[in-house]
Amino acid sequence: MTVSKDKIGFIGLGIMGAPMADNLIKAGYNLVVYNRTKSKADDLIKLGAELGDSPSDVAKKCKYVITMLTDSPDVQQVILGESGVLEGIQTGSIVIDMSTISPTVTREINQRLSEKSSSLLDAPVSGGSWGAIEGTLSIMVGGSKSDFESCAHLFEAMGKNIIHTGSSGMGQTTKLVNQILVAGTMNAVAEALVFAAKSGADLEKTIQAVGGGAGASWQLNTLGPKLINGDFDPGFMIKLQQKDLRLVIQSAQELNVSIPGTSLVSQLFASLLAQGLGDEGTQALVKAHEQLSNKQARI
Ligand code: NAP
Repeated sequence: MTVSKDKIGFIGLGIMGAPMADNLIKAGYNLVVYNRTKSKADDLIKLGAELGDSPSDVAKKCKYVITMLTDSPDVQQVILGESGVLEGIQTGSIVIDMSTISPTVTREINQRLSEKSSSLLDAPVSGGSWGAIEGTLSIMVGGSKSDFESCAHLFEAMGKNIIHTGSSGMGQTTKLVNQILVAGTMNAVAEALVFAAKSGADLEKTIQAVGGGAGASWQLNTLGPKLINGDFDPGFMIKLQQKDLRLVIQSAQELNVSIPGTSLVSQLFASLLAQGLGDEGTQALVKAHEQLSNKQARI
């Protein structure tokens, strides 16, 4: 069974959610949207989306409900809380949580939904706000194979690399693996560019030269040029990266896994949060390295 192009619920219209909802409308789906701050729904309503009164109202109107919220307590509140999705849910519904949250909380929510003959797919994404706008997100999905298959068309409207990685919670686990990789790589890029700057290297040419070799990465080639130009506007905010690293560290503790590199990067991000830089993009990690070495990496 595939999702017909009838009503799809979408809750959470932030940096990621708004363009993802926009891509669903462009793909021909009729959306019922809800956002805590109502004004963020205005552009989608102009494109034909219906406004739901509450998460519960969205669930009453749609058997497929997507959530794109900040953190585990927010998803718990919107799905399980007062006027939440669970209150209005129809039998046989699938809730697709595309936020990055705890795998443990994910499994708990799936259990609560199953008591109402419904289910949760955890489908966190990677690819940043650019990927959300372009519809090129990587989507890592946990949950039943049949739910995954019935929602594949929705995922294809928002992403390109769409993988069912296992049972409930495994999408979130995969995303945490991703966050270990992106945080460590961003740290290497920041450290390398401060080293280059203090060595007197031409930063643009350095990125050009190493950006085509074995040291290349998305962070170097996309965020490196922004960083050396002093552009710290967020694609992905430091405060959200730090939230994800907290989820990684919590899961690693539950599993008795040692993650020394990720823990170090989390401490550097903590120093930036202490300076009030949480709303800047993760490329601002360079500021922590600049302070340590007393040298700016800018052109
Ligand atoms: P964002 O712009 O801050 O949007 C968060 C959304 O969640 C907003 O619509 C917000 O509503 C809503 N929300 C938060 N707490 C809520 C609550 N308790 N009740 C109701 N609504 C609530 O964040 P984002 O960048 O779109 O990120 C969303 C998720 O995607 C996060 O889990 C993030 O880690 C993940 N992610 C982000 C990126 C990225 O590059 N930005 C990339 C991959 C994954 P208001 O408008 O009322 O505040």
